[in-house]
Amino acid sequence: MTALSIESTAVTTFADLNLCPELVYTLDTLGYSQPTPIQAQAIPHILDGKDLIAEAQTGTGKTAAFALPMIQRLSREPATEDYHHIRGLVLVPTRELAVQVGDNTLEYGRLLGMRVISIFGGVRFDNQIRKMKRGADILVATPGRLLDMLKQKKLSLQQLEMLVLDEADRMLDLGFIRDIRQLLEFMPAQKQTLLFSATLNGPVETLAEALLQQPERIQVARRNATSQQVKQSAYAVTNADKTDVLCYLIQQGRWQQTLVFTRTKRRADQLTEELLEEGIAAVAIHGDRHQRERLAALQAFSNGEVQVLVATDVAARGLDIPDVKHVYNYELPNVPENYVHRIGRTARAGRDGAAIAFCAPDEMGELRDIEKVMKIKIPVASGRPWEASDAPAAPKGGRGRGRGGSGGGGGRPGGGGGRPGGGGKPGGARRRSGGGGKPGGARRGKAAASA
Ligand code: AMP
Repeated sequence: MTALSIESTAVTTFADLNLCPELVYTLDTLGYSQPTPIQAQAIPHILDGKDLIAEAQTGTGKTAAFALPMIQRLSREPATEDYHHIRGLVLVPTRELAVQVGDNTLEYGRLLGMRVISIFGGVRFDNQIRKMKRGADILVATPGRLLDMLKQKKLSLQQLEMLVLDEADRMLDLGFIRDIRQLLEFMPAQKQTLLFSATLNGPVETLAEALLQQPERIQVARRNATSQQVKQSAYAVTNADKTDVLCYLIQQGRWQQTLVFTRTKRRADQLTEELLEEGIAAVAIHGDRHQRERLAALQAFSNGEVQVLVATDVAARGLDIPDVKHVYNYELPNVPENYVHRIGRTARAGRDGAAIAFCAPDEMGELRDIEKVMKIKIPVASGRPWEASDAPAAPKGGRGRGRGGSGGGGGRPGGGGGRPGGGGKPGGARRRSGGGGKPGGARRGKAAASA
């Protein structure tokens, strides 16, 4: 493999990268004034027909980095017949990412007449087969559903010229390695392969070795580095107080498009209900929700109908919602890398954003692990860092959750945990609204009462 490390680039326009006028025009209408570093580095190699391994996280502009040159290469020989053979394939780990990458690619390739289709599990098989009736130049797919369709001979990859593995690390995390290996058997050996991954760990490197031929290697963000634009902070807050503090912050700040992470599906649903009770329009996405519900939730969140999206890690991976300004870690992830992915949902494409971690006494270990991985100290913006003596006696993993959960309920010893941004502190259990609140309706004063 040839190594190429990048920090910055001298290229300033898309035309400099030898993108064709149709693409340059399209990007201009989309308001992309100049290539991002990953685009500046990747596009020339891909246009040259090279294999590529790129370490880049979502939010860096990686989709356009592979989609633009792919469209340009494939448009050199546009499909003429009624049926479009699949010549470009993008494999992605999640349905949401399939929709997102598909939409972006369609948008970029519209002027060049690219037919782009996304297929993914969780929706009706026959609908997707119908979509594929006239074929596609570029197919964006999750591995499992694609494999099913190939086995049933509903489509062919024999004309494939370019393969992209997007978020390869995530695909491996989700156990797609066997599907990927099987998929390769349906493809011609001779093709250009591009692998994009947020992190390049051992398994990803092994996959790359097996798939790529003399690839160029590029990297735009230091491992586990996040956008400089994300202002990170931690709040020392007991589990019992978390919902109070969250409601308070959202309501005081009148924040729109706030993304909140929980660890479990159950907690996501529970918190969503609690927010709704407080008159905060919220919706949850997680693996148990139907694809249709997840897409509807995302749509409602993206267009501002819903203020808060409560998500689990898997559901939120790869989400691209440009206006998310605040990301809350209502519960800290037990895998530090997930923190990096979570906070990468904000400050996208050069915008500002804030990531706030709620840290209960029994989450100090997770906070320290995150700091270790990110090689930074996350400032504690409210309260003082918990000490070992603050932690509840409950064994690790058996963490009490939600209202009246662990953490001692009423405030915290030492008098910290002051209400962020104001006097007093979010002390004891939250006063229940009696279910009166409604989204968008008058909000009652914040309860966070017992100081
Ligand atoms: P991605 O990393 O592919 O998820 O892209 C993150 C966001 O950046 C998406 O909303 C893209 O539309 C946007 N984007 C990609 N490239 C550019 C660019 N060159 N200029 C401005 N925005 C961009």
